[in-house]
Amino acid sequence: MSCEHELLATLRRFVAETVGPALRESSEPSVDRKEFLGRMGEMGLFGLNIPRRYGGLEADPISILRVMEELSRGWMCLPSVLGSHMRAAPYILAQGTEKQRAEWLPALARGESIWAHGYGERRLEDSSTMGTNIVMVNGAYRLNGQKDWVTNALESERIVVVARFQERPVAVVVNPARADVTLQDLERPGMKGVSLCRVSFQDYELDPEWDIVGGPEGDVSDVLRQSHGPKALAFAARAVGATKSALEACREITQSRVGQRPLHPVAQHRWGRIVVQWQASKAIYESALAGQSSPAAAKVFCAESMREILEQAVAMLGGDGYAHPLGTLERLYRDALSLTVAGGTSDRHFTQIAAETQLEF
Ligand SMILES: Cc1cc2nc3c(=O)[nH]c(=O)nc-3n(C[C@H](O)[C@H](O)[C@H](O)COP(=O)(O)OP(=O)(O)OC[C@H]3O[C@@H](n4cnc5c(N)ncnc54)[C@H](O)[C@@H]3O)c2cc1C
Repeated sequence: MSCEHELLATLRRFVAETVGPALRESSEPSVDRKEFLGRMGEMGLFGLNIPRRYGGLEADPISILRVMEELSRGWMCLPSVLGSHMRAAPYILAQGTEKQRAEWLPALARGESIWAHGYGERRLEDSSTMGTNIVMVNGAYRLNGQKDWVTNALESERIVVVARFQERPVAVVVNPARADVTLQDLERPGMKGVSLCRVSFQDYELDPEWDIVGGPEGDVSDVLRQSHGPKALAFAARAVGATKSALEACREITQSRVGQRPLHPVAQHRWGRIVVQWQASKAIYESALAGQSSPAAAKVFCAESMREILEQAVAMLGGDGYAHPLGTLERLYRDALSLTVAGGTSDRHFTQIAAETQLEF
């Protein structure tokens, strides 16, 4: 068995034997997230995208997506924590000085501390319209601005913030515990097992050689450009994994009704719709993994399908779909919305796909 196969087998056991039962037994806010993250650290998941020479697993891109899928099948919050943490390494690998790589990458790989990634801002088109910026005041480098949604921010030891400096995007490693950083926890309908914050910087003084990835001459334009495809696929993987767990819950609830009134033909018709939507979702995802469909199309289709499948499931199962002791569908229903927004809204993806596609039938 290859390393990746072994890892996936261990992960499947972890999800089936630990994550699933914990979410059934406790309400979501009281689930012991720390234990899960500790196990994920033991499996080396925090170093999936870090080279072996820095202590990472250096997994191939497809294996990373399969990991995201499996984790999401257990609890969507887990790949969210991991995905945000993993956004740090590409900046450091591509642009970091050897000193920065040697300091940060092994710690990131071990998952000793969780990191976060701050890019998104309101009204942001691309990095040229970014409000968060670095200015030099009397020879000191100061970071100002606000990142409106940062996953993991409350638990993170460091946040990699993308900011504008002399008309270039640079990545800055920020310590969120400092007094010149403000974190505001945000209310939201789902994804309750991971923090989401507005993070603002008020004249945060930087050591340019140490805090700016690659120093003051750094430029992460290429890293940002290259991140679009892998990021879209990672969101698609999360949607596919979570949809599997929705289908499993539908089946379990339906089977528990055996001996009672069978599913009404209209409910069966809805199940048929769910199955078709799932098959289409899985097909576009696998085709994107094989490089035959666009990652953006897979992201938007899988995320929208998950949301639609959950709506069908509620309609099909009635009260059992909306509220059931199992709790899975209710949780996924709330969490699904996040995938249609995070990583770029569905509208943005549809617009981009339309602009890039020549209609040929
Ligand atoms: C749960 C969650 C976690 C997140 N975590 C992080 C994180 O860790 N780090 C981070 O940096 N960000 C994070 N984000 C931010 C996320 O990436 C952005 O919210 C997302 O990219 C959408 O950007 P926006 O909110 O500015 O909406 P906009 O892009 O402004 O879109 C809003 C709406 O405006 C319209 N619109 C705007 N522009 C276009 C266009 N070009 N084409 C078509 N329609 C358009 C559409 O109707 C669109 O749906 C997170 C968001 C969520 C919901």
